[in-house]
Amino acid sequence: MTFMEFSKKFPTEEAAIDYFVAVRYGGRLTCPCCGAVSGVYRHRRRVRYCECSHCNNSFSVFTGTIFESSKVKIRKWFYAIHLFLNDKKGVSACNLQREIGGSYRTSWRMLHQIRAAMGAVDTYKVLSKLVEVDETYVGGKPKIGTSKRGRGTNKVPVIGIIERDTQQVRAKVVSSPNEKGSDLLKVFLIPYIKRVVADGTTVVTDDFKIYNVLGDDDEPYTHLSINHSKRQYSDGKGVHTNNIENFWSILKRSIIGVYHQVSPKYLQRYVNEACYRRNNMSNLDAFTKLLRQSIMPKANHAWQIAEGGSWL
Ligand SMILES: [Zn+2]
Repeated sequence: MTFMEFSKKFPTEEAAIDYFVAVRYGGRLTCPCCGAVSGVYRHRRRVRYCECSHCNNSFSVFTGTIFESSKVKIRKWFYAIHLFLNDKKGVSACNLQREIGGSYRTSWRMLHQIRAAMGAVDTYKVLSKLVEVDETYVGGKPKIGTSKRGRGTNKVPVIGIIERDTQQVRAKVVSSPNEKGSDLLKVFLIPYIKRVVADGTTVVTDDFKIYNVLGDDDEPYTHLSINHSKRQYSDGKGVHTNNIENFWSILKRSIIGVYHQVSPKYLQRYVNEACYRRNNMSNLDAFTKLLRQSIMPKANHAWQIAEGGSWL
């Protein structure tokens, strides 16, 4: 979408709200108080609101979305999403502030809310056939006096899984208050793989020994590994982890190039962003899809995933 197309599609605040209402409710406005689907009307003057003639309640069409408690006009939000998706490298809060005005803090929060929505995707057994699994280590300077990289450092581990056929990816920052080092990986890695990957899938990893349990007789997977410690990167028969490693390099480049540095607290948001970009590369309607994901699912399930909370 170009800027001209954007202004044509959303010429006014009301047009933007109408678009959101169509995406969220289709033709069926639903009252969140009593569940009525008939006798629910848009308010004439307060364009964000609806009224229910059954229970006499009024409600905002943005209840339960990332826009809910924001005073920023929806058209500005849409423009922020448009800019964010249009530039494949992303947009910094400084750049957004320059485009839409307001404070830096507001722009910063908007971008984080958009990233949270980007993570509101299904993760239950969604990847199948052949997947590549790998972990990477992001941020934090290595301790002084060590030259360690990756496993065994104090960087934050992230696990990623990519389905080779479709290039769909899921990734999660490993965080657990009680575990450290390889225990932490063991406690997180295998349960995460089992959550995301469908039974019967072939799982390709490197030779990190924690992955070996995937090949056990009672596990529902076929496990193949490539011997990176012997500097072997492909067996010529498709046993490699090049796709997920390519995703890591894109993630790291975006964090260093656009965002300079990222605190571990917000790392999952940036991982969400990289996944969303990868998963929607050829999706012309990534904008509308993001609006759909801006609506918090029931019981906040996917939301917790986005926030790095419980997913088991
Ligand atoms: Zn009602």
